[in-house]
Amino acid sequence: TTIEDWARSDVYHNSFLLPKDDALEAALKNNKEQGLPDIGVSAAQGKLLNLLAKSINAKRVLEVGTLGGYSTIWFAKALPADGKIVTFEIDEGHAKIASQNLEAAGLAEKVSIVVGAAAQELPKLHPEEPFDLAFIDADKPSNLVYFQESKRLLRKGGVIIVDNVVRNGRVSDPNLTNEDIEGVRALLKAIQSDEEIEATTIGTVGEKGYDGFLYALRK
Ligand code: SAM
Repeated sequence: TTIEDWARSDVYHNSFLLPKDDALEAALKNNKEQGLPDIGVSAAQGKLLNLLAKSINAKRVLEVGTLGGYSTIWFAKALPADGKIVTFEIDEGHAKIASQNLEAAGLAEKVSIVVGAAAQELPKLHPEEPFDLAFIDADKPSNLVYFQESKRLLRKGGVIIVDNVVRNGRVSDPNLTNEDIEGVRALLKAIQSDEEIEATTIGTVGEKGYDGFLYALRK
């Protein structure tokens, strides 16, 4: 099976399950026109994030790694009118494009974009209300820092989702190492002995290739 087959598979399933959405399509178009790398979640994955947020009645979402705000829009659509997303992005250019996309989607007032290195910015966050859900999708070497900070900021029963934890199976290959792979391994090792977290990895395949989400519940 080739990546084209999996892309076709996504298109097929999406044709039944994902109605056309102008805001999401406009964001993808703008991201492409402005030269952003195509490294955001797929449409099917975005919908899953949206449904997971709705399933726990999420009102407050924390996101690490905004890019052009594609996943942010999926989350924003899941939240009630008074819902809030705080999303962290190191690249000012990316943050600007995300801000345009959210504005165009009419969702800007639900979202605060924090521009800066998330490992420096997250510890400054001391909200009155905890978050319900965190989505970690930025530089992989800092996965564990982001996870620990998300856990600090999350309510009991809240959920942390981490993207790109399978990496075409490379994370599990004992002959391979690099800082991204090590960033995922360090996270798995920490969760193993974390009595406040229950988690599982679910492999994903589709137009973005083979990868996986880690889904963690804060007890
Ligand atoms: N979540 C987005 C989506 O699905 O549409 C995709 C995010 S993209 C995979 C990762 C983003 O994390 C990039 O825009 C990158 O600039 C940002 N990033 C990388 N290192 C970062 C850091 N140290 N702090 C905050 N953001 C960072």
